[in-house]
Amino acid sequence: MPIRYAIAPLQPEAHLFAVTVTVSAPDPAGQRFTLPAWIPGSYMVRDFARHIVRIRADAGGVAVPLTKLDKQSWQAAPVEGPLTISYEVYAWDLSVRAAHLDTTHGFFNGSSVFLCVEGQEDQPCLVDIHAPEGDDYADWRVATAMREARGGAKRYGFGLYEVADYDELVDHPVEMGTFALASFTACGAKHDVVFTGRVPNLDLPRITRDLKRICEAQIRLFEPRSARAPFLDSHRRYVFMTMVTTDGYGGLEHRASTALMCARGDLPVTGNSDTSEGYRTFLGLCSHEYFHTWNVKRIKPAAFVPYRLAQETYTPLLWLFEGFTSYYDDLMLVRSGCITEAQYVELLAKAWNGVLRGSGRLKQSVADSSFDAWTKYYRQDENAPNAIVSYYAKGSLVALVLDLTIRGKTGSKRTLDDVMRALWQRYGRDFYAPGARQRGVTEAEVHALFDEVSGLRLGNLLRALTEGTGELALAPLFKSVGIHVAAQKPAKTAALGIKTRTEDGWTKVNQVLDGGAAQAAGVSAGDHLVALDGLRIGSGQLDKLLARYRQGDSVELHVFRRDELMALPLTLAREPATQMTLKLEEGRHPARGRWLGSGRH
Ligand code: ZN
Repeated sequence: MPIRYAIAPLQPEAHLFAVTVTVSAPDPAGQRFTLPAWIPGSYMVRDFARHIVRIRADAGGVAVPLTKLDKQSWQAAPVEGPLTISYEVYAWDLSVRAAHLDTTHGFFNGSSVFLCVEGQEDQPCLVDIHAPEGDDYADWRVATAMREARGGAKRYGFGLYEVADYDELVDHPVEMGTFALASFTACGAKHDVVFTGRVPNLDLPRITRDLKRICEAQIRLFEPRSARAPFLDSHRRYVFMTMVTTDGYGGLEHRASTALMCARGDLPVTGNSDTSEGYRTFLGLCSHEYFHTWNVKRIKPAAFVPYRLAQETYTPLLWLFEGFTSYYDDLMLVRSGCITEAQYVELLAKAWNGVLRGSGRLKQSVADSSFDAWTKYYRQDENAPNAIVSYYAKGSLVALVLDLTIRGKTGSKRTLDDVMRALWQRYGRDFYAPGARQRGVTEAEVHALFDEVSGLRLGNLLRALTEGTGELALAPLFKSVGIHVAAQKPAKTAALGIKTRTEDGWTKVNQVLDGGAAQAAGVSAGDHLVALDGLRIGSGQLDKLLARYRQGDSVELHVFRRDELMALPLTLAREPATQMTLKLEEGRHPARGRWLGSGRH
């Protein structure tokens, strides 16, 4: 008997979902239930159970005692026959990671709302998604990659859906409301695109046209022969669901869908064919999450098989699953013709400079950054640039180094694409196949695969890149594909080596960078800047004031710290980080053409 879940937007105005879970054969010793502490794809303990407002158990209408075991687990007293747990979930987290409900729409991830029935994780589940009550909600529809149950919900309708097990239940976010919807097919597979939030004159046809190119390029990368989309193993379609706000940004990957947030201004306007930087960012985000359909949702680190959602789960491999995905997201934009080679090279420079900006790159490896994601990358404080490195940004550069190295040493006969395909064939393609016993991929297996596929000995390089903290030797690799590298001359003007924000008209210090003038003088995060050399630092005026000075000039900086005025003597210096510019060399470059795919269209 399947486990039966039901969820209803009980009081949209109070942001409450009502949920029931009915277990036909509960554990005779007393059934335990638990809610995940984190959601796959976002490596931080979020304790979703703290949003459960009221919880009770009954069997055949008779109340059953329920004992709380820890912050996220409950145990019902032993009963025979069907046991039902009922509870309400407060849903007011406007992100892709949790649940959100008001009178305009509802969104949830199963990990925020559906209790796991311990010991019955492998049981199939039926999910009854109810419409909110009242005429105001008559137009609401449902978007999800969950399968409609036989005789259950109609496509985009409320009603009964089904999943194979708990792992799948929490891998299909659900959006409900009056969203804009468009569809396209890529390599014969259906894709839905859903936008929630007001977006005047949204150019949906353009978005579907561009996404189709990106999706097809990715499907053909992994399956050049069959061009078979990865989710077709169990799902008939893929869903891009996007919440649009003024300045939102974020995405979370799932096996047959992705939940996204983007800024209204980033989306294209009907009748305007310009490609803004914002739209490139949006396409890059879609490309990133879609690439995860292979890389992390099916090719998985061994530590994630199965996901252990009650506490932190450590892997040193996020540089592969997030970093390589970050490398391919923009690469697929240029290969599919959504951006030009010159624009792509700009994005590479941006990623490189981002890594160069923080001295954390010299202190933490991407393997360590992956392992400590839970307490460092996801919980960054003001010292983050001096202490940690991003496994996204540096991980994407590691992929670039490996790709260009393999291409260079094999005369482009082998590439990183071959490595990804081998990972896919060996560890990913059959991941959700019925009866397949999957165990994910280990670090040692990843290392071995690189050598096997490339025919090279890459062990030392791979270890240096992922376990080391040395500078990446990118310049000769860029040269090999016809990209000119120049270190930007340190600006003649002086810099303090701080990041600031404006708050109530004050310029407040966010971060103090290693090696900068401010750090040497004792400027600290949280300081309010008052005056530079006796001149008030008005809102947004710091750079203008600094522009009048040269490196080596001695000045006095006044700051407030804990409301105490302090005068700090300071010798101005240059910006601590060197920044790079990249430029395409003129003319055709065969190796570059093979890499960026420009030879094919
Ligand atoms: Zn990602």
